[in-house]
Amino acid sequence: MSNTDSFSWVTDAVAAENDWAQAIYREFHRHPELSFQEVWTTERISRELESFGLTPTPVGHTGLGVVISNGEGPTVMTRADIDGLPVTEITGVEYASEQDGVMHACGHDTHITGLLGALKVLNSHRDAWHGTVIGIFQPAEEVGTGAQSMVDAGLTSIFPKPDIVLGQHIGPGPAGYVAVRPGPTMSQADSVKVTLHGKGAHGSSPHQSKDPIVLAAAIIMRLQTIISREVPPSETSVLTVASIHAGSGSNIIPPTAELQLNLRNYNSDVRDHVIAALERVIRSECDASGFDEEPEIEYFNQFPLTDNDQAAAQRTITAFKNYFGDKFMDAPQSPASEDFPDLADAYGTPYCYWFVSAPVVGNIPSAMNHSPNYAPVPEDALPTLIEAMTVATLEWLTA
Ligand code: ZN
Ligand code: ZN
Repeated sequence: MSNTDSFSWVTDAVAAENDWAQAIYREFHRHPELSFQEVWTTERISRELESFGLTPTPVGHTGLGVVISNGEGPTVMTRADIDGLPVTEITGVEYASEQDGVMHACGHDTHITGLLGALKVLNSHRDAWHGTVIGIFQPAEEVGTGAQSMVDAGLTSIFPKPDIVLGQHIGPGPAGYVAVRPGPTMSQADSVKVTLHGKGAHGSSPHQSKDPIVLAAAIIMRLQTIISREVPPSETSVLTVASIHAGSGSNIIPPTAELQLNLRNYNSDVRDHVIAALERVIRSECDASGFDEEPEIEYFNQFPLTDNDQAAAQRTITAFKNYFGDKFMDAPQSPASEDFPDLADAYGTPYCYWFVSAPVVGNIPSAMNHSPNYAPVPEDALPTLIEAMTVATLEWLTA
């Protein structure tokens, strides 16, 4: 099925754009913007697409899409996320962030450049393919709602239904490797905020209180048994209590306590069970402690499961093995999460999401996505990202 053998021209085409890619990547790295504030970023992307002779279309506040129509054939949707993070950069690179407290610490600037580069190469080599390529520059991946915001802004009525949706992510590792995993690839994620309403009292008179700190301690310990006693050993599930806030002094029992939890799952049935169990534990412990007021349980920062279509992943794997040779790897299941599937799910279209690795500037072992010292070496990262997106897209188009 693969027509990858004829993609060898991509290497030279991408190499010819390398100076351009290195320069525009540095612009994006200098100008990170937080989720849903990517105004400069989308304006800069638009200007670049227009310089290719393309006409970008705004989708929602800071989303953007563009279509390359090139005759009859399949339709491929390609996606890059574009937001930065509230992190203060310490990489020391000469093109470091110029925005106080904001950084492209997840490498989304490499994704922007990777997709712009693929669109540039595909647009200037229209003789090599037929069909339609849609480029999507998506805001606010980091908060889990950017893809849905584009769907809510009419994505599916603006762009035709694709046959496949493609996305990629950079991470630390050896230069130039690509990794794909069929099936569940990145976890579903849920953040949970729990507020316990008790009754404050003087620290000397605990009998006059409903102590939310003792209750919180009991809840935290009991929650540990959900994964160990209720989830089958064959399943992977994470429940982390990552934040606890209560009280202001040694002799004051506070009226409330607040917990924040993070859940990761690869199976919707397991997730539903974990959520039901945590609500049961929290409510039961409130009862056991004689609390009159119901706890508040709020869910936020929710991400879908990234579940690569089996056939689409196998086709991508074949294309990547043919093109990248022994720089193809099987991807391990990642506990990270993505909102990318929301775009494909809006159309009911299969998708494939893969990973690209590149060394970190300074070779710092602790530097990883989201850390203030994380910057992929652009000379390694950008050509691979552009090649991977170009090759995977060509795989679905007709020659
Ligand atoms: Zn991230
Ligand atoms: Zn990311």
